[in-house]
Amino acid sequence: MTSPLILSTWSFSLPIIEAEYPKLSTSGSALDVVEQCAIAAESDESIDSVGYGGLPDREGRCTFDAAVMLSSPKSGSVCGIERHRHPVSIARLVMERTEHKMLVGSLADDFADSHGLPSESILSERAKAKWERWKQSNQDATPPAPFDHGHGELFGSHDTIGTIAIDAGGTMAGSCSTSGMAWKVPGRVGDSPIIGHGLYVDPQRGAATGTGHGELISGICGSFLVVELMGQGASPEEAIHRTLSRLAQCWPLKKEHQVAFIAATPEGNYAAGSLRPGFKYCVCVDKSARILDPDIVLHA
Ligand code: ASP
Repeated sequence: MTSPLILSTWSFSLPIIEAEYPKLSTSGSALDVVEQCAIAAESDESIDSVGYGGLPDREGRCTFDAAVMLSSPKSGSVCGIERHRHPVSIARLVMERTEHKMLVGSLADDFADSHGLPSESILSERAKAKWERWKQSNQDATPPAPFDHGHGELFGSHDTIGTIAIDAGGTMAGSCSTSGMAWKVPGRVGDSPIIGHGLYVDPQRGAATGTGHGELISGICGSFLVVELMGQGASPEEAIHRTLSRLAQCWPLKKEHQVAFIAATPEGNYAAGSLRPGFKYCVCVDKSARILDPDIVLHA
């Protein structure tokens, strides 16, 4: 028997994984748990980077991206969702009810309709008001100033909930869900819904999920690389360190660039790392949930 584990990005996920963990110790599946963790964040309007409450693009339109994964053949994702509040559940439907990997935009919304998911407005009044303020004060392409999430997390207006879980039967699953970068160019898709970029799960090698500037993560197929390095024998910490170093070698980094990964092996060893200070992650194992600093900060 494996000891159940949940790992998730950002401190806002602590109460979410705490609530979901008991299901893993009974008969709950890792896949259900990672979906429910994303749903909980998608439902929380105060989280302005995931689901309802998420900040829109520069034209004031909100779009969601999400993915789920169990293994190479078993993954699903969606991007550019505009009418459904739980993109993670659409991603799971793509995985379970189609032979495809990814559906996009209005046709992905239509697919969700056809499976009975409710069509709703996804832009909250609060997010709309923030966009109106941003639009008035910032008509150019200047990125938003970083803001404090509490718990000392300082980051720009985009954070994904990424979750990795291992259930009592040893099955590993991952999910991620995001409204993407605030004030993005309409149509922009980040790393999160692209398998191997924002999320990768390989039952033999491990799982990883990323958060931060999706363009940087996508540029090196970040989550795949972390998992591949673990498959070659690196610890989660070493795999993340090598991935962040590779990213830092490839990109002319700007001071506002941030990227972070969380990763776990199939045996339940785990770690997190970030490019810069300001990232936190959460872990729940043996019924105790904690917020942790990353094990590596490349540019401390
Ligand atoms: N990686 C996500 C994206 O680029 C956002 C984030 O995690 O901050 O869309």
